[in-house]
Amino acid sequence: MLRGDIEGADFERYVEDAVGLTTLDRALNWARSQTVFPMTFGLACCAIEMMSIVNARYDVARFGSEAFRASPRQADLLILSGRVSIKMAPVIRRIYDQMLEPKWVIAMGACSSSGGVFSNYAVVQGADKFLPIDVHVPGCPPRPEALMYGLIKLQRKIKGNPDDGWRVRYGAHGTEEYPYGAAGAPPDVDLQKLIAERKKQLGNGRPPGSILSQATTAGARHA
Ligand code: SF4
Repeated sequence: MLRGDIEGADFERYVEDAVGLTTLDRALNWARSQTVFPMTFGLACCAIEMMSIVNARYDVARFGSEAFRASPRQADLLILSGRVSIKMAPVIRRIYDQMLEPKWVIAMGACSSSGGVFSNYAVVQGADKFLPIDVHVPGCPPRPEALMYGLIKLQRKIKGNPDDGWRVRYGAHGTEEYPYGAAGAPPDVDLQKLIAERKKQLGNGRPPGSILSQATTAGARHA
């Protein structure tokens, strides 16, 4: 187009249609949202549904997430696909810690979100007890479409501001860790005083009213 080919309102409309303005952050977040690489990782029955999202029927490649990575260094999404046993929790946390920032977690299924039907001592009753979870996908198991919907939700979230720490993303103010005695730290507690008071209440280390405590008191009366 040569200068003077269009002018006035036509020129303004042409510029509006042809030129896009954004910030570097928004462009970066948009790019990140289209290339979320999940960790190759499965926990239980939900993992079978998770695996199926890469097949031709569901084709998660449409959303840029078909490249499951075998190293936490190359993945930025952890899909908790199944129940989390107490023994596995530290392993999962280690994998999460090895992933580079920014990173996200989807809790897939009732088990990872809340323990599901496994209300017992061996299963973590909700993975958010030891990990920040970005999206919960309900179901037992959730269908692949549900997981993909969760992924789309996550993409929308990433386009927001993923560089905010998880405390900002979850509004978890007041959970910050302070160096002992630092400004802003919770008021100091006199532990020694508390222990002394508790010992006094317990009566020489034994709960008042316990068989041992009564026997000792009775013995003292006879002496
Ligand atoms: S939510 Fe259902 S399908 Fe998923 S791990 Fe638990 S029991 Fe298995």
